[in-house]
Amino acid sequence: MFQKILIANRGEIALRVLRACKELGIQTVVVHSTADSDAMHVRLADESVCIGPPPSRESYLNIHQIVAACEITGADAVHPGYGFLSENAKFADILAAHNITFIGPSGDHIRVMGDKIEAKRTAKRLGIPVVPGSDGAISEEKEAKRVAAEIGYPVIIKASAGGGGRGMKVAHTEADLEVALQTAKSEAGAAFGDDAVYIEKYLQKPRHIEVQVFGDGAGRGVHFGERDCSLQRRHQKVWEEANSPALNAEERSHIGGICARAIADLGYSGAGTIEFLYENGEFYFIEMNTRLQVEHPVTEAITGIDLVHEQIRVASGGGLSVKQEDIKFNGHAIECRINAEDPRTFTPSPGTITHFHTPGGLGIRVDSGVYSGYKIPPYYDSLIGKLIVHGRNRVECMMRLRRALDEFVVDGIKTTLPLFRDLVGNPDIANGDYDIHWLEKYLAKGE
Ligand code: ADP
Repeated sequence: MFQKILIANRGEIALRVLRACKELGIQTVVVHSTADSDAMHVRLADESVCIGPPPSRESYLNIHQIVAACEITGADAVHPGYGFLSENAKFADILAAHNITFIGPSGDHIRVMGDKIEAKRTAKRLGIPVVPGSDGAISEEKEAKRVAAEIGYPVIIKASAGGGGRGMKVAHTEADLEVALQTAKSEAGAAFGDDAVYIEKYLQKPRHIEVQVFGDGAGRGVHFGERDCSLQRRHQKVWEEANSPALNAEERSHIGGICARAIADLGYSGAGTIEFLYENGEFYFIEMNTRLQVEHPVTEAITGIDLVHEQIRVASGGGLSVKQEDIKFNGHAIECRINAEDPRTFTPSPGTITHFHTPGGLGIRVDSGVYSGYKIPPYYDSLIGKLIVHGRNRVECMMRLRRALDEFVVDGIKTTLPLFRDLVGNPDIANGDYDIHWLEKYLAKGE
């Protein structure tokens, strides 16, 4: 087992990883920018190293500084959290070259899945169903028209290097295609420095369903069921559930089994998420994330298994603590992402939290790095906490969520809590009857 883990992240996820390390008796080092000196994870860690000024480029994305922090403190492993360097293959390679363990998959696996065209090809080869579309990158309008005619409109043009919902353009007819292709290419080039794009069928009413997988790096793969992340705004997840209200046990074990076998065949190591769109009973692979996800706690709630413990165990060579047959799904869990944003316009609302009171009681978990008197810096994303609620079934979970939202107090800044208070009373949400477009339509109506 590791002696000392360096946590290369901030906010709630840095605290989440720190908690797992403490439970396992592992020493912790955190790195932070000058804007985060007062952060909770910095206060609670055994050691902390300031690695640079507020802009992420110069601190949380600064590989040299992070490697230097490992060397100075003698950390033998790095947990990257999510975002920042968590899917940076070069970072994984550099750590390996310094004999520091990257708590995640190999640089090669990150590289394959980080390129969406390559990821889709690999998924297909491993027997995972994919969205119909082009086999590779498309650059010519003529070729785009041919593929689109073959799969049928509407189609979506996506950046191979994409992420965070950027660089996607929908074309409803052939007349839209040229503009969509050119805009997607130039947006992708500007955002990712790589303008390769591909085309796939645009599904009209899908749900976003993703499977949590784990590989032990020695040819064994398991799945931890699925999460339904269909409630999205601008392709960003807002509310996540496990299990999906749309799947039955048979579908769950069918798609889970396909994913677990694929992970085993790949020889993958650590946590991963295989994302699908789900429509009319069919699954269509869209991408794989090679890291821990923001929404992992809903899976932990229904399985009772700490996924960060498992990541650390696997990375240290100790293997998974569970076999597929040990993973049972118990009850229902929902996560609400609480952002420091105006609940209607979604403009960021940094500032000082004058009062922070979290709900409690059976089935409630709050993952957050903020506290009363904490000043939210304006440099990073606006997630200030996650409310995760568990119940014996979805109805109980929703009742508990409603009362937990009533108890939650965040004063001094605007947050998205009022949005969740509205959603929890909505009949479609109560029935689990929503697709990936539901939330945008609801917000457009201004209800
Ligand atoms: P990113 O990596 O940028 O998050 P994804 O490929 O994961 O991109 O897609 C993000 C979201 O975009 C999906 O959850 C879904 O809402 C939408 N989306 C992606 N591909 C399609 C598609 N073929 N049809 C309809 N919606 C799509």
